Formats: sequence, C-alpha cells, structure tokens
Amino acid sequence: MLRNGLYIIATPIGNLQDISARALDVLREADVIAAEDTRMAKKLFSLLGLSLDKKFIKYEDHSEEKQAQGLIDLINAGSAVALVSDAGSPLISDPGYKLVRKCREQSIYVTAIPGACAVITALQLSGLPTNRFMFAGFIPNKDKARADLFNELKNIDTTLVFYETAPRLLKTLEQAASVFGAREVAVARELTKMYEEVISDSFAEVLAAFADNEPRGEFVVMIAPPTAAEYSLEDVRGILQKRLRETSLKTAVKEICEQYKLNKNDVYALALELKNE
Ligand code: SAM
Repeated sequence: MLRNGLYIIATPIGNLQDISARALDVLREADVIAAEDTRMAKKLFSLLGLSLDKKFIKYEDHSEEKQAQGLIDLINAGSAVALVSDAGSPLISDPGYKLVRKCREQSIYVTAIPGACAVITALQLSGLPTNRFMFAGFIPNKDKARADLFNELKNIDTTLVFYETAPRLLKTLEQAASVFGAREVAVARELTKMYEEVISDSFAEVLAAFADNEPRGEFVVMIAPPTAAEYSLEDVRGILQKRLRETSLKTAVKEICEQYKLNKNDVYALALELKNE
C-alpha cells in the first residue's frame, strides 16, 4: 500500500515500453490520478493494461490554485495522488510546479518516479555539447517575442534546447538563422517513435532538408553554444561592467579575455573606460 502523498510519474513520450516498473506499480496502487487531460490518462491506462477503477481528476495550469488545494485535501485525507502529463515528465513544459510547491510548504510527502523526457532524449542524440545546456521551453509564437528571446539567449555559453510544434518549425528556424548565424542546429523529431529522426547541420542545410518535406510530428530544436569568434567588445561590455563591480580590474580583464578570446589590450582599454564612467 502506498503512503499518502504526491507521486510525480513520468510516462512514455512515444514508445509505450518506456515506462518503469516502479511507475507501473505506483499507477496501479494510487488512489487518484491527476492529469491535465483525464481522457488521455485513461487512454494510457488502457494501453498499459491498468485498471480504470480509480478517481481521475483534471489538473491544469490556469486553475492550478483551486485544483491544487483539492488534491492536497485528498492527500491529507489519506490518498496517494499520482500526477501524470499527456506524455513524458510532468512539470517540464507541463503543469505541476505550483502543486509541488504547495505540497512542500505543507510538509506533504512528494516523490518523483523519473523516466522519459523529450529534452534529455533529444540532447543525448544531438551530438551537441551536453555538459551545459539551457532548456528554454516552448518558443513564443509571435515574431517579436521570438526574436527577443533569441537575442536574449544569444550570448549564453550553453547548448540551447527548445520545444517546438510542426506548423511553426520552419518560421522558427528561419528566424533563429538570422540571430544565431553560422552555428550548428539540431532538430529531433518523433523521439522513441517509428519515425524518430535527428538532423544536425547548419541552419541552411536543416532548412533545405525540410524544403520538400513538410514538418510533421513533435519536435525539439537545439542550438550549439557560441564559438569564441562570435564575440565583439560590445557583446562583453555588460558582463565586464558587472565583473568590475565584483572583483579587481585585473581579474575581470583576465576572465573576460580567457572566456571570450578577445584581445587583452582592447578589453583592458574598455575596462578603464568603464571604471572612469
Ligand atoms: N513533459 C514533456 C516531456 O517530458 O518532454 C513535454 C511536454 S510538452 C507539452 C510537449 C512538447 O514536447 C512537444 O510539443 C515537443 O516539442 C516535445 N516532445 C514531446 N514528445 C516528443 C517526442 N516524442 N519527440 C520530439 N519531441 C517531443
């Protein structure tokens, strides 16, 4: 029998066999299944051969506050509540974080049963650096918001990972190409499914690959970290200004030169200018 609490359960992102033995045990034994779409959750239960004879409760982002309290009341009354998403790991571009926060505030037992997650699977297959990455969720739909986001992330020294939908993919790649220029991009589609595919190349080549094939399915877009050659003095002005407030001029100049492969004399001159401002 499960102790009362919240169980965050990863479910498959395509291949039905990608569910752990522990996840199956908890789904079988939980009193309540909380899901953003209870119809999808029931469908998953049927496919996994699990009994539907339990309470399924809708849990969405926009009404999280009220629904969260309802679930917490059930937990306090002794229930084991399992949180699932339509696919993959709950809370990753899916609802749940406010519920977890509320449970933690009230010292309610919370545990996670890890498993499939599109960000991680895509990164593993991309061939891009995985030592540092930034997952930025779904790419905004509007041109300006998308451009603003890309410009904001342009100088971050990590692989960037985004979720994207098929109808928006080409537009996104075109706009990203104008901001990220010569960087490598990787597009992963239909992970763990029959038509799983990962393309990694320049933006031009990846766009060309989709020219005759309308994008279909689910996508993860990944962009390689910046190369040192991409930085100009102007790009590091803000970072240098911040470091000058925190450390000595000598240390700040040394750090920036090493990290961004810039000329020492140029950075030193900029540091003096900033110090005197
Ligand atoms: N929580 C999920 C996870 O753990 O990955 C993600 C949920 S989010 C609402 C759905 C998005 O994840 C899709 O639009 C797509 O960008 C990505 N995604 C989910 N499954 C995928 C798959 N099998 N292949 C590629 N991308 C996938």
